[in-house]
Amino acid sequence: MLPQKIPSRIAMSCYWKVLGILLLFLQSALSLQPRVLLVSFDGFRWDYIYKVSTPNFHYAMENGVHVKQVTNVFITKTYPNHYTLVTGLYAESHGIVANEMYDPVLNETFSLTKMNTYNPKFWEEASPIWITNQRKGHKSGAAMWPGTDVKIHGVLPTHYMPYNETVPFEDRVAKLIEWFTSEEPINFGLLYWEQPDEMGHFLGPDNPLMGPVISDIDNKLGYLISKLKAAKLWGVINVIITSDHGMSELSSERVIELDQYVDRDLYKVIDHSPAVAILPKEGKLDEVYEALANAHPNMTVYKKEQIPDRWHYKHNSKIQPILAVADNGWEIVHNKSDIFLVGNHGYDNIIPEMHPIFVAVGPAFRKNATKEAMNATDLYPLLCHLLRIDPLPNNGSFNSVKDILAEVPGAFGADTCSTVIGVFLGSLLVLVFTAVFVKHFVLAQANSMHILHTEVAQPLLQDH
Ligand SMILES: [Zn+2]
Repeated sequence: MLPQKIPSRIAMSCYWKVLGILLLFLQSALSLQPRVLLVSFDGFRWDYIYKVSTPNFHYAMENGVHVKQVTNVFITKTYPNHYTLVTGLYAESHGIVANEMYDPVLNETFSLTKMNTYNPKFWEEASPIWITNQRKGHKSGAAMWPGTDVKIHGVLPTHYMPYNETVPFEDRVAKLIEWFTSEEPINFGLLYWEQPDEMGHFLGPDNPLMGPVISDIDNKLGYLISKLKAAKLWGVINVIITSDHGMSELSSERVIELDQYVDRDLYKVIDHSPAVAILPKEGKLDEVYEALANAHPNMTVYKKEQIPDRWHYKHNSKIQPILAVADNGWEIVHNKSDIFLVGNHGYDNIIPEMHPIFVAVGPAFRKNATKEAMNATDLYPLLCHLLRIDPLPNNGSFNSVKDILAEVPGAFGADTCSTVIGVFLGSLLVLVFTAVFVKHFVLAQANSMHILHTEVAQPLLQDH
């Protein structure tokens, strides 16, 4: 009997081992997570791709979706818009209402220019997507994206780089590739680069010298694509290339000098041109407002409660009592001795010059497709859909952007094409293997049982 039992035990053991491997394959197919890399080139205006040759942007557009006009949020500055992209909220709701802020409740200031941006209390009116992603059990990695080196609600991204503008683009890309390909990979990466914003301020967007600056960004995108290809991530992860705002050309002919209209001792400027946040001294609100209200035809001055509803920029204690907003291309200064920029942003978010680039490429997205318009707030619910996490309450609309996906999601979750194929193949392998094994095992058992039956039967017969 024994010699017959050993082969069947070995066979069964082999069967369970192979079945285990196949089930693992099936499980990994089931758990295959769409991965997303969100890239921001600060101040990359939507139409920069038409100013000079940008083959890498166009390569991404041909292989993905290009949204022509993205309406970002007011004020069209860096920190408010970067936080909108990762929360889906208007500035009044996420609380990062400007690059320079004063919180009268905390009696504390927040300043991008002084890099005093690390007080978590300023960030905690919202919860950015990397926190929700990690609470779902996933891993996130951030290379310099605003807010990702701040411990918001006690949480940092799984991997992050402390902000340091001297760190080269290539190093930031290397970190993200490392995180995406590690043994415990991230499913969500964020990449931030300071240009072309800085040069846009310095040269002005209409300056021919912006050509090489835009070409350099295109080369950087090409570098990113080449590194993703080398890591076998291109075509596998979903890459969204966007920005926070555009840029408008200024002129020394379009300057509004506050000193001409109101005594500087009556107020304090919290955030600067072109949407100037004004905190009047105690009891001076009406005096400052009256002095500025009709001071200049290219400057609109609002008391906080008068700020247009369409800006969603009123209901927050960090929005100051008076807001003076310049018309596009105009600058508001104390007087002409202030530092003068050649380009600036922060204007009404309806102005096309304020709008950023948006290209999405990867397995989840349509190919060689264009979409006319979307809101920057819609990116958040889209990201949540891709990452399979439940969005927190937000001001965006997934329905408004789901048409950029390769297949409009239905009950089956059409974005999970790779998962479906994986599960199908995995299931097929398990079934085929089981069928083949059963066939061989049953035949082998039938033969051995015939011999065994004879061996067992004989002693029984002998007993009688
Ligand atoms: Zn910016």
